[in-house]
Amino acid sequence: MSESTGAARLEPWDETGIERILVVVAHPDDAEYGTSAAVAQWTSRGIDVGYLLLTAGEAGMQRPPEEAGPLRAEEQRRAGEAVGIESLAILGFPDGMVEYGLPLRRAIAREIRRFRPDAVVTGSGDLFVGWGLDHADHRAVGLAAIDAVRDADNRWVFPELLAEEGLEPWGAAWLLLTGRESNSVVEVGEDAVGRAVASLEAHEAYLADLPWHPAPADFIPDILTEMGKAAGVPYAVGFDAHRLKE
Ligand SMILES: [Zn+2]
Repeated sequence: MSESTGAARLEPWDETGIERILVVVAHPDDAEYGTSAAVAQWTSRGIDVGYLLLTAGEAGMQRPPEEAGPLRAEEQRRAGEAVGIESLAILGFPDGMVEYGLPLRRAIAREIRRFRPDAVVTGSGDLFVGWGLDHADHRAVGLAAIDAVRDADNRWVFPELLAEEGLEPWGAAWLLLTGRESNSVVEVGEDAVGRAVASLEAHEAYLADLPWHPAPADFIPDILTEMGKAAGVPYAVGFDAHRLKE
């Protein structure tokens, strides 16, 4: 389908058969800049969505890490609740110093085998993303999550996950990347937009440390409206979606 301008209109992501989706990010709040609207829509349809954070975001506030880590983890729990998240895992990689490598891939592959998602949502791993130069942790986690989707499906990669932890290989059918030009969209309703705003607002103490940060209600709906225009609907979240298997 194309519009009169010649620009391709984005088509809806095919959710056929999707029961579980795992969102893999580096920090508390990373999923709350648009993705959480899709999450709210998915959970309202009965899809089980889990969040995997590689760090507790302990280096992201004015207060010391030992205070910030638990506080941000609690704010993330509330943010997830706002969009229907029941499974939240926060691993202890060091905020600001996450390195791409086998330990990171193994940790993500382990959680993929545990949660058994039909789709994994993560960052592109690119240096340049839609909003500028991306953070080192985001790049490391995005790249490692992309690789871990494949690792999780191969019994000869990280064989100890099966031998020692009994975690059978698991192959997700879809990889949905954020931060790249979208090739498909998830249409979201007004309720999901409101819950997405609430999910970012849940990071209350964190946002209070960032006086320049706009209020969530002042820009999250705009992001979703903008993507909606590209799909011909009121609100949408865009992804660069890749089908990995049928
Ligand atoms: Zn982040």
